[in-house]
Amino acid sequence: MSTEESREEILEYFQQQNNCELPYCIEVASDREGEHVVVVGGTHGNEPAGVRAMVAFHRQLQNGEIKLESGKVSLLLGNPQAYQKDRRYIDRDLNRSFDHPEGATLEGRRAAEIIEYLDRNNDIVALLDLHSVSIGDFKICVYEKDNSQILDLTLSISDIPLHFIYHPAHMPGTLIGAAGRRRICGLIVECGNHLSKQGVDTALSHMQAMLAHYRMFRTAAEAPKTEILSIEQYESIGAIKPGPNFKFLITDVETGTKLAKGQLFGRDDNGDHIAPQDCYIVAPSRVVKSTDVDAGFLCKMKRFYSVSSQK
Ligand SMILES: [Zn+2]
Repeated sequence: MSTEESREEILEYFQQQNNCELPYCIEVASDREGEHVVVVGGTHGNEPAGVRAMVAFHRQLQNGEIKLESGKVSLLLGNPQAYQKDRRYIDRDLNRSFDHPEGATLEGRRAAEIIEYLDRNNDIVALLDLHSVSIGDFKICVYEKDNSQILDLTLSISDIPLHFIYHPAHMPGTLIGAAGRRRICGLIVECGNHLSKQGVDTALSHMQAMLAHYRMFRTAAEAPKTEILSIEQYESIGAIKPGPNFKFLITDVETGTKLAKGQLFGRDDNGDHIAPQDCYIVAPSRVVKSTDVDAGFLCKMKRFYSVSSQK
């Protein structure tokens, strides 16, 4: 198994293996009935960890190293054109395009195709959207507020101790939001660095754990270990909307940076950004582009404990 394949080779792989009506989607079905789970990588084209994990997983299925115990898994390359160019998106962020997908942008058309697929396959129970980051090895689980099942699912498949729960109004148009409205349990996992092996391994282990959760896959038998996880769960109270030339005014701003009520934290051509209350920042990136829909989120935080017993 080579992990050094070019983007062109990976795109070609998805084209060759594509076996359903949605381009760049590979379906693998077991001969036993079961659940239908969708895994997505490359929703942001510059985030290859999930894409590489999907290809590795598919190859192992193909050559019989591993097998699907039941049901069906769909492996979807989210934004192939952006992936080809190693860019987050071409016209607009695909992961903000699912509320009103329109034909004027490439991502709008791709979102419409994906939604059509979700609508046609009304047996899908869960969707795992694999992302990765450019700086450091940051890992976080992201899900929408007011979905009672998703926290249980997240705790059962992941030991990442950082969660971001967002209000749909603060981050509209996500793929997991579109999934949620179709009663599909949607989870984003930021798997760590784009380029590190650890990022690919984290993507792969979450994919496997998700399938194991639905009894579709048996993970290598290890002695069960039980540990107590201390989870920091950040909940959005608002999005940071960047105007032209937005800059954070706090050095080394990162997820978890604490702000006091009234504190100046950012500035753009429209004015100052001031914390409306004591809160925390969740920021996907320190560098904000003028085309970004949001520069991050202001959040409250709660800490809770979870007993994990992972196989
Ligand atoms: Zn991403």
